[in-house]
This record gives sequence, C-alpha cells and structure tokens, in this order.
Amino acid sequence: MWLTLYEGGYKDAQPLLTAQSKLDAQLYRFGTQSHFCIAYVIGCYFKIQNMKLSFKESLLLEIQRLKEIINNLTKLHNNFDESEAKKNIHVLVDAGHGGNHPKTSNYMTPPNIGKKYRFVQENIEIREGVINREIANIFCDMLDSANIKYTKLHHAYLDNSLFERVQTANRIHAEKKAEGKKVVLMSFHSNAFGFKQSGTGEAPRGWSVWTTKGNTDSDRLADAWYLNTKKLCGQKITYRIDKSDNDFDWEANFQILFHTTMPAVLVENLFFTNLQDAKLLLNKEYQKASAKAAFNTVIWAEKNL
Ligand SMILES: [Zn+2]
Repeated sequence: MWLTLYEGGYKDAQPLLTAQSKLDAQLYRFGTQSHFCIAYVIGCYFKIQNMKLSFKESLLLEIQRLKEIINNLTKLHNNFDESEAKKNIHVLVDAGHGGNHPKTSNYMTPPNIGKKYRFVQENIEIREGVINREIANIFCDMLDSANIKYTKLHHAYLDNSLFERVQTANRIHAEKKAEGKKVVLMSFHSNAFGFKQSGTGEAPRGWSVWTTKGNTDSDRLADAWYLNTKKLCGQKITYRIDKSDNDFDWEANFQILFHTTMPAVLVENLFFTNLQDAKLLLNKEYQKASAKAAFNTVIWAEKNL
C-alpha cells in the first residue's frame, strides 16, 4: 500500500520536481517512507493547486475527513456487542403432529394417526401434538429472551407434512450456512406404547433421545440434551438409555432426522400413554423444566458444536 501511495504521490509530484529532485526521487523510489511522505505531500500540493485550495485549507479538509472516520469508528465501537456477535446459531424447532384448532379446539392430528390417549378412570385426555407445541413454545420464548434466532418447522396447529418440514429445514440450513451460521434441529415429541387411544394406561415410561445412525455432531447434541434434562428433571422422570455405542441416544432413522442436512435430534419426552408420565407432561412446571433443558442445550451447542 505504501508503495502504491508513494507511486501516486510521486506521479502527481513529477511536474513540480526540478531535475535534481527528480533524480533524488528516483533514487528514493523504492526507499524510505519519509521520502514517500515528501512525494505524497508534493503530490497533494499539485492537486491542491488544480483545486484552487490553499495547502492549509486542504489540510483542514483532511483533518475533518479523519475526524469523521474516528467518529464512525467510535460509534461502531460503543454499539458493538461482542456477546451478540457471537450468537451465530440458528435453531430449527419442530413440534411433532398437529395441535388444537384455535376456534373449535378440535385435535388436528388425523384420528387414524392417534397421538392422544384418554385415561378412563381419571378422565384425563392428553394430546401429544398439543404438549409438543406447549413445550416447544416455552422453549421459543426462552430463545427470544436470549436473542437467539429460530424457525418453527411446524404449523401453529395443523399437522403439516414431514416432507414440508424437511424441505423448510434444508432450505433454511442452506441460507444460514451461507451467512456463516451454524444450524441445529430440535424435534419435540413424546412416546406411546401400543395403538389404543383410551384405557387405564400402559406400563412403559421414560425419556429418550434419538439421532440418525452413525456418530455425528447430532450425537454430541443428543448427549448434551440428555445431560441437561438429567440436571433439571433429575429423579422426577425415568430415562431410557441405549449405551450400546457409548452415547445416550437411541438411533433410528426418523424422517426429520434422516432427510435433513444439519445436526438433528429428536426427543421422545416420556410416554403419554403412561399415567404418571402423562401427569408430568400436562404439568406446567415440568413443561418449563423440559423447555429449559432444551434451551441450555442450545447454549451448549453455540459454544461447543
Ligand atoms: Zn410423536
């Protein structure tokens, strides 16, 4: 850069230089910075002459220009939030199945798909898609408060197709990746045993986390989600852990995990067909703790993935 500026100043200064100073300038052409300064100042003077400005006036202009640059840099420095700039994670949030229609309260998951259970003795009905949304929404509120950006892959209440969710996920991933952001997908479900939609409840219960087959960043994300859940929900719930490959997730090729391009994890949050688990899933405090575990997992991923 010095050489370019020097060359510029030297070129502009040429017509003003005497034979001797031209020789000196040649000698110093690839020489010291101080000679660059002389050539640059002479070049400036030559330009000033053309602009009909005095040397003093032009220096004042230059001082004003530099002051403006300093002001802009100071503003940038004062408003620059390092912690915000580091938040370069984008979360894809997926709540499984459909929710309740806001006007009719009808469950929008097709009846043949099920995903609900009525405990006849207690007269309690639980709808998986509704619980998935409640926990995912608390989770999204936490992301909002932390100024972490996300995209919901699920409709507010309709059971939009897995194909549509996968397409959206991969499109957002490509966009955010191009912006230099890392993207993770977190899918919220709860499990069922059997296909009955009412009765006295089923015995299987517990929390589990799923990724695709193979050892990827999804496994690390799954482990973090498990450990954060264990920390916050502790002994209140039981865990279904597959330790065959030394991590905590159960591996299966769910569509939302298998066809997506980013680290993706699905949690089967307890069994909605088990009475004790269903009572927890319907409990606001449990929903909050569960959402907080997911949120802490994002904070972990932001730093470690
Ligand atoms: Zn589900």
